[in-house]
Amino acid sequence: MRSLAVCLATICGLVVTDGQVATMPALAQGSTHIKTMPPAPKPTASKPPAKASDPGSETKSAPTPVPAGPVVADGASVTGDRALTRLALDLSGPVEYQVFRLQTPDRVVVDVTNVEFTIPAATGGKGAGLISSYRFGAFAPGRSRLVIETMGPVQVEATRLIREGARGRHRLELDLIPARAAGLSEIEVAAARDSAARLKLADMAPQPAPPKPSPATPSAPLIVIDPGHGGVDSGAQGAVGVEKDIVLAVGRALEKALLASGRYRVMMTRSDDTFVPLERRIRISRDHEAQLFISLHADSLEARELAHAIRGATIYTLSQSASDERARRLADKENAADLLAGAHLPTEIFQDDVKSILFDLMARESAGLALNFRQFALKRLRGNIQFSRDPQRSANFLVLRQAETPAVLIELGYISNPEEEKQMLSQEWQRKIAGAITAAVNDFFAKGGSIFR
Ligand code: ZN
Repeated sequence: MRSLAVCLATICGLVVTDGQVATMPALAQGSTHIKTMPPAPKPTASKPPAKASDPGSETKSAPTPVPAGPVVADGASVTGDRALTRLALDLSGPVEYQVFRLQTPDRVVVDVTNVEFTIPAATGGKGAGLISSYRFGAFAPGRSRLVIETMGPVQVEATRLIREGARGRHRLELDLIPARAAGLSEIEVAAARDSAARLKLADMAPQPAPPKPSPATPSAPLIVIDPGHGGVDSGAQGAVGVEKDIVLAVGRALEKALLASGRYRVMMTRSDDTFVPLERRIRISRDHEAQLFISLHADSLEARELAHAIRGATIYTLSQSASDERARRLADKENAADLLAGAHLPTEIFQDDVKSILFDLMARESAGLALNFRQFALKRLRGNIQFSRDPQRSANFLVLRQAETPAVLIELGYISNPEEEKQMLSQEWQRKIAGAITAAVNDFFAKGGSIFR
């Protein structure tokens, strides 16, 4: 039983429901029917969890059917030390789940069906034991994800779903121990690949909402608004808010303002709190022949001691080499969004060398137009927003690699600066910024933004 338990932990792709184990259709090959370990005693907050010991008798409880509606995850905790760390998730009902590991960086990914997280995003900012941090959220339609960043290579010693009390509540526990062997097993690599493939399929299923038409002209220019991050990827973390929420709020305000002008059609790469891979953001813009792409982000500073001193917005355009070291690091951080969400899908879109993109004739026109738009945006935002020391920068942002559409990435400010975060969270400020960007869009199209179309 012990060896089976370890097997259960290291094998991936097992779907476990309330003490019963079943194989997921997509992963049926290579999986075995294995019994889960029975519930372990609940760890106390300060004491390391008890090592999974003799499993004793099998779990006899009858399986609870997984409910059709979303299960709510309303609590999470990390206990233990570097020898054994346990992450527990409190759930309103049973779930199906799947666990696998990823490397570079070392992560453990837990995919669960249809879970709504009501835990504050900041909860996962600080780990313990082997866990440095974790994040959670919607990942793909009907699927949620927990991504656990670990201090180094770990292995999953045990996973268990425990029924708690009579009200159907459950607790999902994951025990991590330092990895005994380097690298991932073939089964794990296959499971990660399989998960990525399923994401792609899931990704294709729901089409993004068609462009919201301008009331005036059906052939009005299409503007794609791209609120960064979303779902399991929260982006930068402030004291109160998270980047994904702020940029979505500004994105929605911008959508409203642009539509109210009656001059444009508008499309959002996401209009709720879901994860959207970078590639899909670009595809939305390309497939619908957008005439302007505006990506919205908020920055944060790792060095907390400087957080009060550093603030201000910056507008980025695409370049092969970054305008400065800070821009390069920021692009690396934003480009890692898919990787951090455990959804890195190398695709042909990103294989194109940025140099060849920029040498493409059409791309040069688009790049020139992006610079024009930036000038209008700087002019209109001035007085409404505080700019960083050098608000015109460039770097190799994956999401800006668009040959046919002028694309800019606006970092609205530093969420790590308490004053700026407070401002960014205010609806009044969000509306003001949306109004200023709309004025810049008006300038852009009035001065020939669309003459190449
Ligand atoms: Zn961002």
